[in-house]
Amino acid sequence: MKRGRSAFKSGTPARVHRNPFDDVLEQLDRAAAVLQPDADALAPLRHPKRQVIVSLPVLMDDGHLKVLEGYRVMYDNSRGPGKGGIRYHPEVNLDDCKALAAWMAWKCAIVDIPFGGAKGGVACDPLNMSEGELERVTRRYISEIFDLIGPTVDIPAPDVGTSPRVMAWVMDTFSMKKGYVEPGVVTGKPIPLGGSSGRLEATGRGLLFTTRETLKRVGRDLSGSSVAVQGFGNVGSNAARLLHAAGARVVAISDVSGAIYDPDGLDVPRVLAYSRETGQVRGFPGTQLLDNPQLLRLSVDVLLPAAMEAQITVDNASEVRARIIIEGANGPTTPEADEILMKRGVLVVPDILANAGGVVVSYFEWVQDRYGYFWKEAEVNDRLEEKMVGAFDAVWSTRERFEVDARTAAYILAVERIIEARRLRGLYA
Ligand code: NAD
Repeated sequence: MKRGRSAFKSGTPARVHRNPFDDVLEQLDRAAAVLQPDADALAPLRHPKRQVIVSLPVLMDDGHLKVLEGYRVMYDNSRGPGKGGIRYHPEVNLDDCKALAAWMAWKCAIVDIPFGGAKGGVACDPLNMSEGELERVTRRYISEIFDLIGPTVDIPAPDVGTSPRVMAWVMDTFSMKKGYVEPGVVTGKPIPLGGSSGRLEATGRGLLFTTRETLKRVGRDLSGSSVAVQGFGNVGSNAARLLHAAGARVVAISDVSGAIYDPDGLDVPRVLAYSRETGQVRGFPGTQLLDNPQLLRLSVDVLLPAAMEAQITVDNASEVRARIIIEGANGPTTPEADEILMKRGVLVVPDILANAGGVVVSYFEWVQDRYGYFWKEAEVNDRLEEKMVGAFDAVWSTRERFEVDARTAAYILAVERIIEARRLRGLYA
């Protein structure tokens, strides 16, 4: 059975012509202008290590064959194997994967876990595919990139449009081809297959810690702070739920169907139950309906974009009235928008720090799989908090040391750590 309407009308005209990899290079240049690393040390960081495109012939339920395009990019592996999600989205392309893979490399360096960066995807619309079609796409995709992944090579995980269900097929396909069970090839798996407690909500929990630490630095705390959350998928819904539970006032939430607003604060657990039942937040009783772009312009303490790339652009950055932006999504703010926000005094906490909770617990999952010994959820959450707060402090002290914005500081930290690893390893052959 197909699962209905497409969730991918992202409402971002800028996205059609935008190459997110240009943003990566521009952000890298900004950090390099401050850090001034050796040009030869910086040059490899502007190029993905490996880019692969595969064709996936897949039998659809109506009996016809569809040939889909799949990608896997490894950006860097100087600090450890590649690590990065698999995205199923109709518009995903090689440039998206290059950008997302680079962000993964910087992110893993910032939270100081022994991985490089990678990302992959298949151009397809998972919400309009049956479970059987999704399984066939996944198995064919993994077969095509089989030689490029593995627990010591490159470890995929979920991203937009993929789920623990899909990760289970990734693990099974890889294990069947190897001839033995290899849970460490992929993270974000269901718990009975070697998944980690706390992984599903880890990105949202990491955002909770990041928001709390940011508010502390500006003399505020979570209790009573108002928050607007764009996107109500894995990242947005868990962040909203945990922020609400910690005492923040979540006043607005959106998904592709529209945005709901209540200045007194939404009852997030009830919004979650409503969205599970109806498939959307629109229509939640007792709330005002807003257009998606209106949510980004609300006067709130914290705006938490958790949907897609390029949501805050040159077209709307001057209208953002939030004091703080905590980037839940990857790349939600373009470099031009960043400049406008900076001039207006909006504090932007970058994606490569803020949303790193998912990859931190993916790392814990990989460690547990390799040990064959699993931790309790409280232990996972405590270790996640320690990693996130440590990374936050490191970015903040870099920010103070170089007197730069938080994104440039995060890039400087990542670039310093990756260049150091490359220097220690030396140039092979
Ligand atoms: P998801 O597919 O579960 O959810 C995406 C949500 O965004 C859905 O609710 C969708 O309706 C909504 N959406 C799409 N366009 C929108 C728009 N224009 N306005 C409002 N809502 C819109 O995806 P996810 O896993 O939650 O990922 C969201 C973002 O976070 C992506 O950028 C992803 O790369 C990033 N991210 C995800 C993880 C993770 O662990 N899942 C980790 C780090 C970063």
